[in-house]
Amino acid sequence: MNYIIIVIALIVFFIENTFAENFKYNLKYVELADGIFVIEGDNTRLNSINGGAISNTSFIIGSKGILVIDAGPSALYAEQVISIIRSISSIPIKYLVITHHHPDHSFGVSSYQELGVEIIMSSSEIHRYEKYGKRLLRQMKNLIGEEWFLNTKIVDIENNKVFPLKINLGNHQIGIREYKNGHSEGDLVVVDIDEEVVFSGDLIFNKRAPTIPHANIDNWSKYIDILHNNKWKILVPGHGPIIRDKEELYMTKNWINYISKIAKEAVEKGLSPAEVFDKGISDQYKSYHLAQEVWNRDLPLLMKKYEYQ
Ligand SMILES: [Zn+2]
Repeated sequence: MNYIIIVIALIVFFIENTFAENFKYNLKYVELADGIFVIEGDNTRLNSINGGAISNTSFIIGSKGILVIDAGPSALYAEQVISIIRSISSIPIKYLVITHHHPDHSFGVSSYQELGVEIIMSSSEIHRYEKYGKRLLRQMKNLIGEEWFLNTKIVDIENNKVFPLKINLGNHQIGIREYKNGHSEGDLVVVDIDEEVVFSGDLIFNKRAPTIPHANIDNWSKYIDILHNNKWKILVPGHGPIIRDKEELYMTKNWINYISKIAKEAVEKGLSPAEVFDKGISDQYKSYHLAQEVWNRDLPLLMKKYEYQ
């Protein structure tokens, strides 16, 4: 009898530990500047190994409070970020900025709400999160595994912010601006004014093809010029390694203008997506990580959009 109990206990122990190992984010942070930290995402597609942690999460530790930029893909992710922050500082986490509603940036929000953190997000993106969140969560579970989304909930977010917004963290002054109808309907860009660090959200992708399901290419392209012309030392993109060389912003700008031009021309000539795919991607853009995959998905979407314009 005792033997059976021990065997069952061992099996339970084994399963629990296997589970914990398989569905654990392996998050690592770097300190970019005084009090400014980044946890870099896996710069590729969503998959069952990275658990959706493909975008960058940042946090700024000020003397009066901590501000986090992006909630990550799930409650498990957010809880790990919060425990990392707690291992560095006991100053209260006061603000969470969610740059836009896409699941890899927003789905960890409930973990912050439970701590009483003030959530900052544009009203159009709150609207989209609340409207499409449940459906997107189902899709994410199907795509990369239900277990990653333990305790992940779609919640109501208070919609009361007006931009531009200034926040005083004590020794860090923060500015937050909304860029309407760019990569999303209401992208937020965060600036640490003293340290000259910009957090661009998905207005900038680095070393991979940008995704455009909700984009307005013309506005987005103008916003990249604005970011290019602003004064900063470091830019943390939504995806990919941090940027110190301003020319790297043009990777995003060139790609979105290129795919948009090809889609417009195809619609004018009455070509089908298959006919455009046959021509392939120009060599200059083939080197972008995920180029083919993003091209195959986004080109027909853009063509459809331009057909109705
Ligand atoms: Zn996005």
